[in-house]
Amino acid sequence: MTYFRKNIEEMQGYTPGEQPKTTHASSLQPIKLNTNENPYPPSPEVEKTLKSIDYEKLRLYPNPTADKVRNTIADIYGVKCDNIVVGNGSDDILTVAIRSFVGENQSIACFEPTYSLYPVLAKIQNATTLKIELDENLGFAFPMELTDNTSDLFKSLNKVKLFFITRPNAPTGTVFDITSIDKFCAIFKGIVFIDEAYADFSEDNCLELQKKYSNVIIGRTLSKSYCLAGIRLGWAIADKQVINGMMKVKDSYNINYITQELSVAALLDQNHLNKTVSRIKQSKERLVNNLINLNFSVIPSESNFIFASPPDKKGSQLFEFLRERNIIVRYFPGKITSKYIRITIGKDKNIDKLIECCKNYIKF
Ligand SMILES: *Cc1c(COP(=O)(O)O)cnc(C)c1O
Repeated sequence: MTYFRKNIEEMQGYTPGEQPKTTHASSLQPIKLNTNENPYPPSPEVEKTLKSIDYEKLRLYPNPTADKVRNTIADIYGVKCDNIVVGNGSDDILTVAIRSFVGENQSIACFEPTYSLYPVLAKIQNATTLKIELDENLGFAFPMELTDNTSDLFKSLNKVKLFFITRPNAPTGTVFDITSIDKFCAIFKGIVFIDEAYADFSEDNCLELQKKYSNVIIGRTLSKSYCLAGIRLGWAIADKQVINGMMKVKDSYNINYITQELSVAALLDQNHLNKTVSRIKQSKERLVNNLINLNFSVIPSESNFIFASPPDKKGSQLFEFLRERNIIVRYFPGKITSKYIRITIGKDKNIDKLIECCKNYIKF
């Protein structure tokens, strides 16, 4: 006997990356390279704003549509406030999208491997997930059949209401070719949600596709590039009609007052964003070069993490080896993903410790 809906009873909840318990002895603190958090502090403007917050204001409900935040985002991207909805992290935006566009017994689609939250949210909605496997031998590239509306693969999408494209993709760090995505958006009848959580680390992005197509939603977040996973702010950029509908679905006060204030301060400091992003890119390049010298195979990444496979292709063994040495990375079981580990780019001193451990792993 259960009180739950059948789909909830059956499902496994999402497993977030491990957050080790904090101890006060920093020497015992594990090196955390597993959840793609930014190793650097947020903008000093965020600290200033936080210190100046009047606690009496917490008595009141926050602005329900977070207008200051939306206006700031609109200015940065050259769109209108009406083109933006904000969420309690971009995970909240993903939930709003599924609830807005996908009914029970309808479908979403996403790639495999990709961000593993999409199927979980679909299951909560009692919707199914069509997973399209990416080919490791083609460098996890965008499947060409999806750009051809006469292909069997494309035709298999006929019940799909919402298609998630993660660019850069996780956990691979790869970017899909924009021309192919463009062709797909032109022929697909449902909504294409392009999750750009890591776009600030990549060379280009899909904002132009949003301007071109009314069925395209772009998702962004402050969690990775802005060093602000703790305040929970994400947003979607889309056609005005699409945003209007999503506004009906979101919780009325989904962004708390403190987050609204801090988000504006963070967004206005584009200089801090650019500085931290370029530091991370430099550390990434160094790590990649070192691992390649150790005969690892490293997938080219335009993100703040890399997907790397040791010469013995035993991701889980390397994961455990690092763990015993107090370094936490992410391991994904599965036929292809189990050859790899995903490493978040951290501060240089921690990346150096990781490289040392990888050298020892090779000898071991
Ligand atoms: C981290 C991440 C998110 C979630 O970001 P939040 O804004 O912290 O909820 C969404 N999509 C992808 C692909 C991510 O990696």
